[in-house]
Amino acid sequence: MARTQSKCGAWTEKGTRCQNLAMVGASRCHLHRGDWSSYTVEKRKAKARKRRRK
Ligand SMILES: [Zn+2]
Repeated sequence: MARTQSKCGAWTEKGTRCQNLAMVGASRCHLHRGDWSSYTVEKRKAKARKRRRK
């Protein structure tokens, strides 16, 4: 794919924008993909649900 990858752009602790390239299929880089992305939130919810059920 020759598409230009967008930058992560998440705010860092230093108050600057993250300059890492975003992951393919995500709007954040590998560092910031974690906490904010809906993808991870869904994953966490599923995890919590699983844990509660037990
Ligand atoms: Zn980032």
